[in-house]
Amino acid sequence: MELSRMSWAQAREALGKAQVALFPVGSTEQHGPHLPLGTDWLTAQEIARRASARGGWLVLPTVPVGVSEHHRQFWGTLWVPPEVLRDYVMGVARALASHGLRKLVFVNGHGGNTAALEEAARRLRQERIYAFVYVWWRAVSEVIAQVIEGSGSHAGELETAVMLAIAPELVRPERYREAAERSAPEWGKRVEGVEVGFDTLDFSQSGCIGDPGRATVEKGERVLAAAAERLDAFCRWLAAQPEEALAPKPHLP
Ligand SMILES: [Zn+2]
Repeated sequence: MELSRMSWAQAREALGKAQVALFPVGSTEQHGPHLPLGTDWLTAQEIARRASARGGWLVLPTVPVGVSEHHRQFWGTLWVPPEVLRDYVMGVARALASHGLRKLVFVNGHGGNTAALEEAARRLRQERIYAFVYVWWRAVSEVIAQVIEGSGSHAGELETAVMLAIAPELVRPERYREAAERSAPEWGKRVEGVEVGFDTLDFSQSGCIGDPGRATVEKGERVLAAAAERLDAFCRWLAAQPEEALAPKPHLP
C-alpha cells in the first residue's frame, strides 16, 4: 500500500482505513567501491514494503538523502544538516496528521539519521503526533549475530548481503577485494577511549568496514525477512494503542 501509487481518491479511502504509516528514511552515500550510493534508502524502502505486505500498513515516499556529511570525501555522497532532516520529517508528519493519521514509524536505513529522527519524534509527541524510530539493524541484532559470520557494519558483509537480496545487479563482487583490503575492522577510531575519527576517511580508505566477501543472497533474505516481521509486529502494537497510552503524561498532582 504505497501512497505514491494512489490517486487522491484512492488515498482518501486508504487514509481512512490506515492505522499506521511507514516512512522510510535513508541516505545517498558511499558504501565502498562495490555497493550503490543508494544502499541505505533502498534497504529502508524494502523493509517498509515487506512489512506493509504483511500488515497492510501505508507506505509513504522514501527520503533519499540524510545526515551523511562524514562520508563527504567519497564521490557522489550527498547530505543535509541534521536539523534540516528533522524539520523535513516533522513537516511530512504534520501533513499526514492533517489527513487524520497520527501514528507513524520512521523506518531508518542510516545510523547518521538516528539522532535527528529521535529528536523529531520527541517534538512531534508534544503535538500529539506519535512517531517512532525503527532502526532495523538494532531491531534484529540477534538475527544478524546468527547469520553474519564476519564483522563489519558499514558496507561489510551485512549490508552487502542485504543488497544482494534487494538489487543484485547493483552489487560489484569484482571489487570486494579492494573494499576489504582498504577497510577498517570496526567503525570509528579511538585513542585512550576518545573518538578521534570524525570522517569515515579517517579510518577506512575504501569506505568499507569489514569484509563483504562472505555475503550471500540467503543471508540477506534472512535478515530482511526478520526486519520486516519485527517492524510489522511493532506496527500491530502501535495500531492497538489508545491515544492516552501514547500521549505525554500530565503534570504530577
Ligand atoms: Zn548503509
